[in-house]
Amino acid sequence: MADGRVDTKATWRAGPVSTALFERALGVIPGGVNSPVRAFGSVGGTPYFVERARGARVTDADGNEYLDYVQSWGASILGHAHPDVLAAISEAASRGTTFGAPTGQEVRLAETICEATGCELVRLVSSGTEATMTAIRVARAATGRTKIVKFAGCYHGHSDALLAAGGSGVATLGFPGSAGVPAGAVADTVVAPYNEIPPIDDTVACVIVEPVAANMGLVAPEPGFLAGLRAACDAAGALLVLDEVITGFRLGRGGAAAHLGIRGDLSTLGKVIGGGLPLAAVGGRRELMEQLAPVGPVYQAGTLSGNPLATAAGLAVTELLPPERFDDLAATVDVLAAGLREAISSAGLPVQIPVVRTLFGIFFGEEPVRDFDGAKQSAASGLYERFFRAMLARGVALAPSAYEVGFCSLAHTGSDVAQTVEAAELAAREVATAG
Ligand code: PMP
Repeated sequence: MADGRVDTKATWRAGPVSTALFERALGVIPGGVNSPVRAFGSVGGTPYFVERARGARVTDADGNEYLDYVQSWGASILGHAHPDVLAAISEAASRGTTFGAPTGQEVRLAETICEATGCELVRLVSSGTEATMTAIRVARAATGRTKIVKFAGCYHGHSDALLAAGGSGVATLGFPGSAGVPAGAVADTVVAPYNEIPPIDDTVACVIVEPVAANMGLVAPEPGFLAGLRAACDAAGALLVLDEVITGFRLGRGGAAAHLGIRGDLSTLGKVIGGGLPLAAVGGRRELMEQLAPVGPVYQAGTLSGNPLATAAGLAVTELLPPERFDDLAATVDVLAAGLREAISSAGLPVQIPVVRTLFGIFFGEEPVRDFDGAKQSAASGLYERFFRAMLARGVALAPSAYEVGFCSLAHTGSDVAQTVEAAELAAREVATAG
């Protein structure tokens, strides 16, 4: 359409309460949302406003219920409003919500993260953006170099240096980067295609990578890609930063690093480790992390860092995630992915449902996707947004963008999966027959 939004003659429409809230929101919040993809700009229509959520389901302000595969973009691995997590948060809240002083809880969460990931030291922050920004600063300080290498279609938050060729919302909006970022801020950012080993020389401070790319849809690293990066970094004296904001405590307790047998010098985590509250982390080897103030010369700080509610939630969630729980989640995702593949392809639509252990993606197209160009090609078919709306009309909430992945939770049951697959059969048929 002329305004860049897709045709909204959709089978799904937001109810009157959500619609009214969105109109009010547009009056006081840019685009009506506090994070761009939530606006439904690329899938069309008005977003549903959430009233409450429990387990695998969210309920919107009009009382419609959806089986939720967004799960707060991966933050809610146990499902929404897990009773143990709520109890931990409310017990912590009863003792005060923020102190700006150290607590025992943050030590316990840091110990949990170090033990699971092999990081020697970890610093807690409030968002993934802060974690990656800090990792880059530490890498530059430790190496005395300025250049950083990132991959097209990977998203590492919204700090200036990392927005070039970003996935997630940057890709959804079709932005090459962001206005307001001075040329100087990205002058030292080199963008390379995912799944290809870029030239790395002695001017490179670090290579930052999503070890499993999950912000351009789901793109698995090809065999040899991560090991090749590791070797190229070692040869050039550059650091390898694994951005595990999505994969940390999602592919397993040790994240993608443990699952794929790759060693990063620095790692960033977020989402799951905050138990649904604002918390993220940057960690790595002691001598690198001791670049950070107050030990070293790299400044980094945060009023709410290590917030007691967030650390309580993170501890409660990580305690409920022994290794076998990831096997359970992977088994659910396998059944779901097989069902979606069958449902969509038997309607005659070309589809790829990649799976990496506990993550799944949906690409419409004949060929498996291995990089950002492939992801863009798939998104350009326009099938994702039509399928998205047809699924929403049947009570299943997928991510409102083709450049995201599917997040299943441990609260999703076999019958939830069956209901999803049934919805997918009908939705795919509708999309296919509408031509
Ligand atoms: N890194 C990755 C891999 C992410 O997926 C995200 C957010 N989806 C971020 C960093 C930024 O995290 P946040 O939104 O908490 O700033």
